[in-house]
Amino acid sequence: MAEKIQAIRGMNDVLPEQTPYWHKLEAILRQLMASYGYSEIRMPIVEKTNLFKRAVGEVTDIVEKEMYTFDDRNGDSLSLRPEGTASCVRAGIEHGLLYNQEQRLWYMGPMFRHERPQKGRYRQFHQLGVETFGLAGADIDAELILMTARLWKALAIDDSVHLELNSLGSNEARANYRDALVAFLTPIKDQLDEDSQRRLGTNPLRILDSKNPQVQELVRGAPRLDEYLDEESKLHFARLCQILDANGVKYKINHKLVRGLDYYNRTVFEWVTDKLGAQGTICAGGRYDGLTEQLGGHATTASGFAMGIERIVALLEELSPIELTSADIYMVALGEQAEIKAMQLAEDLRNELPELRIRMNCGAGNFKKQFKRADKSGAKVALVIAEQEVQDATVGIKFLREQKEQLLVQQSEVADLIKLMNF
Ligand code: ATP
Ligand code: MG
Repeated sequence: MAEKIQAIRGMNDVLPEQTPYWHKLEAILRQLMASYGYSEIRMPIVEKTNLFKRAVGEVTDIVEKEMYTFDDRNGDSLSLRPEGTASCVRAGIEHGLLYNQEQRLWYMGPMFRHERPQKGRYRQFHQLGVETFGLAGADIDAELILMTARLWKALAIDDSVHLELNSLGSNEARANYRDALVAFLTPIKDQLDEDSQRRLGTNPLRILDSKNPQVQELVRGAPRLDEYLDEESKLHFARLCQILDANGVKYKINHKLVRGLDYYNRTVFEWVTDKLGAQGTICAGGRYDGLTEQLGGHATTASGFAMGIERIVALLEELSPIELTSADIYMVALGEQAEIKAMQLAEDLRNELPELRIRMNCGAGNFKKQFKRADKSGAKVALVIAEQEVQDATVGIKFLREQKEQLLVQQSEVADLIKLMNF
């Protein structure tokens, strides 16, 4: 046998038993986006490397270590997108969607990061991203949070997630805080781990959300971000909390929540679950008012979030399992004439009942074999045609999940009867 070729580590196949969860989530998400008046945008999966360097930041983990970067045949450096916000802003500027306008956009698709694969962390993963532009108030930040809260309810996982909230303040406030933090940490630099030592020079705020207990202990006494907030950011944050309170959305203010990317200011938030182990953040976002200008557009306020589809699917699999079946009706046919008739009847039924899943027994087999397959398909009903039924233009209805007598009806009546069965 030839050597088997395997998938790339951290890049997963979504198998037939998992796709129903994806379909459910995708359908609910599309409906949710429509119900808030958001429009879909689709961007390419590959962009110029410089886009991510400028948007995400040269000294972030993503750009330093995690990007899939390669030279195109003409020598341009390209990267598989590690996230969608940069592409979305690029597209918005390029097509004149942002300047002096309001936009509420969403996208869904694969992202790529060369991380260490583990549960909930993959090298190809999927995000739903939502980005809004031209709306500066706390109201739009609140809307983004309300729509996610509604999603958890619709998926029946709202008991297993909680919201963490923080404000990073204006760019100036954040810069002041950064100086204070560096001044606090520099004298105790030797006690920090390697990662945090490196971040001290590049992205010191990230030290605050280090997972290392020793580092956590050290930053306990650090100056607090909220002590450095500017007046306007404080008001913005208070207003956001007020709207969330009025809508009954619970949250925990976490002064150490800073987010990994460079472009955030003011509101940042994360939805977290304790049901998935270490990879517990299922949705994260915030305000990024400076990014459009940073990417060569006119200054435009912006706010958005991204959620990790695989992590939400994992939660659904655990908390609200879907009964997996591949058919509602299974067509059983015995004999060559019956096979032809059954195929025709299945086509007629699909015309009349397009929402039903009708699976035809292909490849013949005796009754016993066919009913075994019918059972395995999960169908509720088998429609049975043999020689006699062909002659009489009838069809047998056998109930596979209920103790009910088999029926014999005219083929012309079967669609109406099945409609009445309501499945
Ligand atoms: P984390 O702290 O888990 O690394 P992050 O801050 O890098 O997350 P973002 O860039 O904000 O994540 O992406 C938003 C969401 O996308 C995350 O909250 C998570 O649900 C999901 N996500 C991010 N990276 C991965 C990955 N490698 N595999 C699966 N999902 C991911
Ligand atoms: Mg990450």
